[in-house]
Amino acid sequence: MQIYLVGGAVRDKLLDIPVKDRDWVVVGATPREMLAQGFKQVGADFPVFLHPQSHEEYALARTERKSGQGYHGFSVYSAPDVSLEDDLRRRDLTINAMAMSEDGTLVDPFHGREDLENRQLRHVSEAFAEDPLRILRAARFAARFHHLGFRVAEDTMALMKQMAADGEVRHLVPERVWQEIQRALHEVTPVTFFDVLRECGAIQDLIPELADNDECFRNAMSALASAAGQELATECRCAALLHGLSTEQVNARTAALKAPNDCRDLSRLVVELAPLAQAPSLSAEQVLEGFNQADAWRRPGRFTLLLQTLACLPEGLDPGTHQRLRDTLEAARSVNVRSLMSQGFKGKALGEAIGLERLRVVSRYFP
Ligand code: ATP
Ligand code: MG
Repeated sequence: MQIYLVGGAVRDKLLDIPVKDRDWVVVGATPREMLAQGFKQVGADFPVFLHPQSHEEYALARTERKSGQGYHGFSVYSAPDVSLEDDLRRRDLTINAMAMSEDGTLVDPFHGREDLENRQLRHVSEAFAEDPLRILRAARFAARFHHLGFRVAEDTMALMKQMAADGEVRHLVPERVWQEIQRALHEVTPVTFFDVLRECGAIQDLIPELADNDECFRNAMSALASAAGQELATECRCAALLHGLSTEQVNARTAALKAPNDCRDLSRLVVELAPLAQAPSLSAEQVLEGFNQADAWRRPGRFTLLLQTLACLPEGLDPGTHQRLRDTLEAARSVNVRSLMSQGFKGKALGEAIGLERLRVVSRYFP
């Protein structure tokens, strides 16, 4: 059997950037031989194995053919006669379809190296169209390497446009879409991901609210760029992206994408409190109401994320007010509930007394 390093590891090596995880392809072997060498099979009927020591993935060379709609509509063929080139042909982009033998020889039948040098994200073959997830992957690599000068190749963009127009994107399951979006939100230039999806028309089937309205899209990108630039958490980036939607739209979109609850909740809070953040001045009552609405008393950490996101919005929270709100919350959180109880307050009266006391503290910062 011959073993080759493949995919992202070869690409990143040639780009001279750190290699995160290494994937290997094994040519000329059977599952039985792999098991005999101590490899552990990953799935019952999928020819992927884990190395006994390194736990890196070793996949038997395979071909894939579309046999139905969606992700599961693939039939996988793997046997000792499947060549390395056959395996590389099923991959998405030429820069991801190179292999390296153990002695460091590059195997590059699809000219990935040339595309790497010319900064082109190009599909390996027309089979690219068989998996619409590749649109999102291409957009994500554009977002990862935009700063290095990479662009989606013209003919690949044309193919992606055709796939989107054919409605292919609608066949993707939400879990796969969210996984790509979540990763894209953390690439170097997440805005590029959405620019590419918009250019090819896929955004219409993924986040139509952003497709319908130029201004909404521009504001979303500006907020997202700011959130990414400050290295904010995933939920902040998601909320920045969705801040121009209505509460109902946020609920529907995050449900459709199966986004995690913390993304949904922060996005909703950002939508609801954006008007406060954009107000020219704030009264103590408004601030207290905002704290209550965001449950800042029990969720101070989330409130911090909320303020960070509101500061990313166009005409959002200015740095002075941002800091003042943080100081105000810290002070108002120290209102001593126990001492009010020992003064005899309880039930509804206790709630009112806490509210009044907090308002008094907030008024010191927002007269
Ligand atoms: P990363 O640095 O994010 O790990 P990667 O290129 O290694 O990037 P993986 O998702 O780890 O990406 O996939 C490994 C390889 O498998 C890719 O380089 C590509 O050749 C191939 N691949 C992964 N997903 C697909 C897909 N949906 N269609 C075609 N090829 C794919
Ligand atoms: Mg990888």
